[in-house]
Amino acid sequence: MASSKAALAVSADQNGESNGNGHANGVPRINPDYTCFKVKLAKSKIHRWGVYAEELIPAGRKIMEYTGERISRRETKRRADASEMIYLFTLDNYWCLDGSVGGSGAEYINHSCEPNLVTRIVKGHIIYMSMRDIKPGEELTVDYRFDKKVERVECKCGTPKCRGTINLTE
Ligand SMILES: [Zn+2]
Repeated sequence: MASSKAALAVSADQNGESNGNGHANGVPRINPDYTCFKVKLAKSKIHRWGVYAEELIPAGRKIMEYTGERISRRETKRRADASEMIYLFTLDNYWCLDGSVGGSGAEYINHSCEPNLVTRIVKGHIIYMSMRDIKPGEELTVDYRFDKKVERVECKCGTPKCRGTINLTE
């Protein structure tokens, strides 16, 4: 997915999870080593590229791992300040993963205020799980949960529950 500088402060949800992202360069691709179901990259109405299911994915299943270079809080801030398009996912209070370096393709999953994926942090790994059955052809989405204190990023997910921003509002 895409994100702006606000991604440097993406917030954790109640399970200590969070995310944010975007890719600056290179040909988008998905690494099948980190993918448990058939998915593909395609143009998205939400933003640039998106990831789409190519088979039925039942609820509650691991779909993809979000991978990337592990970087410190200071380096996260440096990269966020230096680039317009960044793919950063907050792992915990100190570490972020930069999906633009060694990303599995999960960094292309777009934000939605009514997502079909949820994030789980499992032993230092960021795992995207299905919240419900996902049909072939559906775009995979996750709530980025940007912190409400960082720069507000407009949301264009188009869902009935859209809160108008990728940031949390409460
Ligand atoms: Zn929205």
